[in-house]
Amino acid sequence: MILNLKKTFKGGVHPKEWKELTKNFSFEAMPKPKQVIIPISQHIGIPAKPLVKKKDRVKAGEIIAEPEGFVSVPIHSSISGIIKDIHKEPNVSGSPKDAIIIESDFSDEIEMMEKLNFSSATPDQIKERVRLAGIVGQGGAAFPTFVKLTPPRDVKIEYVILNGCECEPYLTRDDHYMLERTDAVIGGLKLIMRALGVAKGAIGIEDNKKTSIDKISEACKNEQSVQVESLKTKYPQGAEKMLVKAVLGREIPPGKLPLDVGVVIQNIGTAVAVYDAVVNGEPQITAALTVSGGGIISPKNLLVPIGTSIQEVLDYCGGVKDNAVKVIVGGPMMGVAQYDFKAPIMKATSGILVLTDKEVNDYPETPCLKCGKCIEACPLGLEPTKLARYAQLERFGDAEDAKITVCMECGTCTFTCPANIPLVQWLRYGKQKVIKMQKQKHPELTEC
Ligand code: SF4
Ligand code: SF4
Repeated sequence: MILNLKKTFKGGVHPKEWKELTKNFSFEAMPKPKQVIIPISQHIGIPAKPLVKKKDRVKAGEIIAEPEGFVSVPIHSSISGIIKDIHKEPNVSGSPKDAIIIESDFSDEIEMMEKLNFSSATPDQIKERVRLAGIVGQGGAAFPTFVKLTPPRDVKIEYVILNGCECEPYLTRDDHYMLERTDAVIGGLKLIMRALGVAKGAIGIEDNKKTSIDKISEACKNEQSVQVESLKTKYPQGAEKMLVKAVLGREIPPGKLPLDVGVVIQNIGTAVAVYDAVVNGEPQITAALTVSGGGIISPKNLLVPIGTSIQEVLDYCGGVKDNAVKVIVGGPMMGVAQYDFKAPIMKATSGILVLTDKEVNDYPETPCLKCGKCIEACPLGLEPTKLARYAQLERFGDAEDAKITVCMECGTCTFTCPANIPLVQWLRYGKQKVIKMQKQKHPELTEC
């Protein structure tokens, strides 16, 4: 079923898209590196526990770290080789993290899981396969997918929505998944629906991806259980609350999750990973990402073995130009600036951007103009200027009362501010302090 109603949400912004830099580049598989650095925590939740030790030999696809607790996933080797060491290494998050370092033996030995039948795999088989394959959400948060497929018993899920918005500028990875792996996207959605016992699915795609909308719509034309929604191109259309509002017209109340309104959201790339794990027996050992920006010599869409360093990816793309000033992992709105290019590609890495001086806003900060643009743009109806002020003044109690913890750190307010005030950075700081304060008051709210 195809609906083309150009739905959207209130607020938001229209940053320059820059999608043209990689829009026409199909996925290219990057060669296996000589060494990989595989962090034992690539997901929200408890880090996995290493199962290997120095000098052990492993194959690609072999489990090298096992999950610890419910919200955790196994980690697999992405190459065949010898364990060189296990220690802290640079990480794209900014602080060093424990990682397993593997040196390649160039034998390309790979250990896949048994293939399951697409049509007859049961919900329990699908969930267990997703768990064993170590799949985490590809939308940035890296939440273990099997946990999302196991909602509390008293919660009734009605809809699965695939997020095909890819609303961050520059990134075209999800667009290419929809173009090049159309069957896997739809097959993955159906497997997720079956695992959850849900009869209705939807795929929300921003209307700047016309070819993908056409291709997915054509493939779904006889699917009564799946609706394809063309959504207005606007940042942050792909945020969970905005997506649910645009596709189903349902509001997720502050502090609540999509499942509280009967919805599970998965990213397009996650659906492909689920399909590959079930149908092809593949664990999550490869990341699909866009390498783009005016500062990279040859922009590309790449399939990269997890654990490959940022530097090797940049080198594979011809290196950086002389006027490159910033490297970001993820999109420009929510991504993280990088200082050590030894940091490895992880399961949820969606892009590497190399930006030039012309693409980076380095105008000086001036006092607030009280123009209200940030308030108008905030898709959650918050008052970013007030919240940032509370954070600056360390008035965390007031920040809590003004709902700072509801902020999804989308960066829309910062983008829109004519005074160049780093609002989202202040909000992030204030939010962390408030969450810490809440945990001290209520120790039972410890991180999972
Ligand atoms: S970062 Fe927070 S306050 Fe700013 S626009 Fe996004 S949700 Fe609103
Ligand atoms: S957009 Fe910037 S200048 Fe305008 S009210 Fe918000 S913080 Fe102040």
